[in-house]
Amino acid sequence: GIIEVMDEFFSANLAQDVIRGMKENAMRGHFTGGKPPYGFRIEKVKDEHKLRSTLVPETTLAPVAKRAFNMAISGKGIKEIAKGFNNDGIITATGKKWTSTGIHSLLTNEVYTGTLVWGKRSNIQPIRIENAWPAIVDRETFLKVQAILKSRAPKIIHPRRAVSDYLLSGIIKCGVCGKAMSGHSAKSGKFFYYRCSNATKRGPSECPGHWIPKSKIEGFIVDRIRSYILTEENLLELASIVNEEIDASMNSVMERQETLELQISDADSRLEHLYDALEKGSFSSDELAPRIRKLQERKNGLLEKKCEIAVEAQPNFLEMPELKVIQGYVENLSSFLASSSIVEKRGFLKSFVNEIIVVDGMITINYRLPMPPENSEEENIAVLPFIQHGRPYRSRTCDTLIKS
Ligand SMILES: [Zn+2]
Repeated sequence: GIIEVMDEFFSANLAQDVIRGMKENAMRGHFTGGKPPYGFRIEKVKDEHKLRSTLVPETTLAPVAKRAFNMAISGKGIKEIAKGFNNDGIITATGKKWTSTGIHSLLTNEVYTGTLVWGKRSNIQPIRIENAWPAIVDRETFLKVQAILKSRAPKIIHPRRAVSDYLLSGIIKCGVCGKAMSGHSAKSGKFFYYRCSNATKRGPSECPGHWIPKSKIEGFIVDRIRSYILTEENLLELASIVNEEIDASMNSVMERQETLELQISDADSRLEHLYDALEKGSFSSDELAPRIRKLQERKNGLLEKKCEIAVEAQPNFLEMPELKVIQGYVENLSSFLASSSIVEKRGFLKSFVNEIIVVDGMITINYRLPMPPENSEEENIAVLPFIQHGRPYRSRTCDTLIKS
């Protein structure tokens, strides 16, 4: 969703003061990420006047993480490891089945050697701190596993572009029949297009199936995002949307706090009644003691929870950036779009754009958010000169065949 994108955008890319704060945190060996990696839990430690996070191996899950490394050392591939975990009923930190990707990112994460690495994805020099927290695997094992993974990595030689190379897959649709458009190459992988999947499967009697040059349509959409969505006004609005979301989650924290307060005072008044009864001698202490103990335990549990929530309740608002900073964001986001991988780019695009519908001479972009200036979620752009009828390599012209 938008909040993840903006979160990443604001925290990983940008504003020097945010980076400075996080960097400082990282230098002290504090965990600055969100959720703890598999096998760890977050522990709050007092550092001067602030509570900060560090990682601690989780008693039951840390050995599982270690097992993945041992399996890799013993020659098991990432697919096999994922399969083994799933067969054993081991689930990921988010309660899902393991995938090769999940295992791969576990096995390549230096966090398991007790090392903190921060700022890998931003354009500043990353910070590395060894022994930031207890290791789950030793460095030697970790390095061995990296070497194994490297030697096993398939050498990718694709004469044609993989489906995943198409930035707009999953977003772009045929406006004539409503089916998805998919990526194609023509002239033995020299030229790339999007075309209606219906037309491709069932022929032109089902749908005329225009051929849309990949680089042109992708360039067009990315430019659109860059110049039209990434305006200062929009970014300010997005920042306020993020703050509203944070506000809402703060509210739910406060609601939970209130509920806890009620439960605690309920336990208190019950305890008082029991003490009263004890004083008056209406019941024997043998009868009352277990009930009092039980209530006290319950109350202690509630107090502990209250403490945990108090940590969460520290507000974490994005500061409304000043215009100058926003300009920096626009530039950063533009370069992010220009330099990031196709998967990141597509993820970013998807957080703004719901779908792109192409018909004869007209593109409709459905945005996920109302977009200024007209606050509309739909934009129609007429006359794209590059939509093409018929098979591309029979009617080749300069404009319709674009070398990617
Ligand atoms: Zn179609």
